[in-house]
Amino acid sequence: MENKSYSLKNVLLETGFAYQDKDVVKTKTELFCVDVENGKIKSIQPNNPNAQAIDAKGHLMLPAFKDMHAHLDKMLFGLPWQAVSEKRKTVKDMIAYEQQMIPVWLETSIERTEKMIDMLQGYGTDFIRSHFNVDPTSGLNSLKNLEKALNNKKATANAELVAFPQHGLFYTDTLPLMKDVAQIDSVSFIGGVDPYSLDGSIDKAMGAIVQLALDNNKGIDVHLHEMGESGVKTIEFLIDRTLENPQLRGKAFMSHAFALSRLSTVEAEKMAARLAEAGVGIVSSVPFGDIIMPIPILRKHGVEVLIGNDNIQDHWNTFGSGNMLQKANLIAELYGYGTEYHLSRALGFATRYKTPLDDQGNQQWPKVGDAADMVFVNASCSAEAVSRISPVTSLIHNGNVVF
Ligand SMILES: [Zn+2]
Repeated sequence: MENKSYSLKNVLLETGFAYQDKDVVKTKTELFCVDVENGKIKSIQPNNPNAQAIDAKGHLMLPAFKDMHAHLDKMLFGLPWQAVSEKRKTVKDMIAYEQQMIPVWLETSIERTEKMIDMLQGYGTDFIRSHFNVDPTSGLNSLKNLEKALNNKKATANAELVAFPQHGLFYTDTLPLMKDVAQIDSVSFIGGVDPYSLDGSIDKAMGAIVQLALDNNKGIDVHLHEMGESGVKTIEFLIDRTLENPQLRGKAFMSHAFALSRLSTVEAEKMAARLAEAGVGIVSSVPFGDIIMPIPILRKHGVEVLIGNDNIQDHWNTFGSGNMLQKANLIAELYGYGTEYHLSRALGFATRYKTPLDDQGNQQWPKVGDAADMVFVNASCSAEAVSRISPVTSLIHNGNVVF
């Protein structure tokens, strides 16, 4: 439904923290009327339950959620259920399987990508950073189909795209394709994957990725699953190149970066300080079990840690829920963010750090003029929403009521 101008009533907004001694014991909230015009918040007024307006029924309004790592182009979502195979153990096994299956998946990928976006929207997400395969099997077709799906959904969802050479830059002959894709306006980031284990050389593969980004004024977001020395060296390579090329600052990311999970606390602190100094971010799907990422240390040093679902239902993994509130909940539980204050801060992992209250409890969202990208949840405050993974009751994107 497209709406140029309308009002909402009975909108629950957070207004501050209630303290006892120095501890936050409660989040203060009040009901408001919110006017939306041309995709923006036009005014925020005291509530009038009798106003001619859409009734938000006292549900909590939060910034719409952002999934910062997805592969919308090659989900198996919409195809018959299929768990992962025991036969495919390595990245190279996966590449061989993709070479066989991608032409089949592409036949139905436009409709299935739209369905996947519907599913993410159902959990309150309206913005997605999506990687798309660039490889000799896909050619440019993964991008073409993804763009068609995104165009069909453009009134209600936004995305930024990462050109992802899943089959290696050199392991398969992908660099020439990447050079073409890097020139396309709709592509924001140059991706990569495991430069040492897949392409045999950190300098060669990472050097090519950085050069493509610099030549085409793009960001960087590289998948790095490698543990140990090659993983650490790859992260350091990106830090060094970003320090040398400040135009990459804030636009350079390592996805997964599992090698950080193997560092001692002292080493992790040093690495976090260097990442922050360079403005290199980490993107994580928040693994657990034998990989625990040092997310609190990274955040303490001011590293931008972006969170995404990555695999939702595909041939790599079927455990991504698609629910960013669930990711914030997982982080809160995993790292012990259990108090009212810490739970309320954990919401930021679902919203790329846009939260209704700042760290001191001052109201900072929504403000008049903000984009009308918001989600409504059946919760009394952010802390409850994160802790209970509260149900999403409505989503508004760019002023358009999605549901
Ligand atoms: Zn991924």
